[in-house]
Amino acid sequence: METVSRTGRAATRKGDDVIYLRAENSKTRKPDTMPLEGELLEIIERRRAAAVLQAEGAAPRFAEFVFHYDGNPVGDFRKAWATACVAAGLGKMICPRCSGEGSARTCEKCGIPTRYRGKIFHDFRRTASRNMISAGVPQAVAMRITGHRTDSMFRRYAIVNEDQKREALAKTQKYPIHRHARLQHRTELKVGGLT
Ligand SMILES: [Zn+2]
Repeated sequence: METVSRTGRAATRKGDDVIYLRAENSKTRKPDTMPLEGELLEIIERRRAAAVLQAEGAAPRFAEFVFHYDGNPVGDFRKAWATACVAAGLGKMICPRCSGEGSARTCEKCGIPTRYRGKIFHDFRRTASRNMISAGVPQAVAMRITGHRTDSMFRRYAIVNEDQKREALAKTQKYPIHRHARLQHRTELKVGGLT
């Protein structure tokens, strides 16, 4: 999922396929909109359905947050993030004393709290920047999506690794060969009277 915007509040209106970000919640400190596509739109649609809080014998209320527990904000985002990443195999809980690894918040052996090591939320912003560039999204468009204001800020996030450079060069070099081969093939077919 390419959730590249900041965490926190975002307004969403039923039937819309965009999210409205207020100036104070937008990465660029200006009001902005974020189009919702694919998986992200599906998630937001589900959250919209969960926005109506119906307690027994009370009038329905509307949750203030997109993500909430019974209308209350998700308490500790880091904690929820760590749990999700450990479950997805993107991180683990490590005991600072015995270095034992697992998924528990407390080390069984030492009885002390473990520490999270793994993907952090910001890593995904970088991944999204990189993926967009790899997919051929123009930098100016990618920057509007990630909310990067300056080239240098964006470049820091969109760091292209050695493998990606190699792949890009290989692709570029292969392109004329393919084209040449195709043209040659067509010519041969024509010459052979098969077209
Ligand atoms: Zn331990």
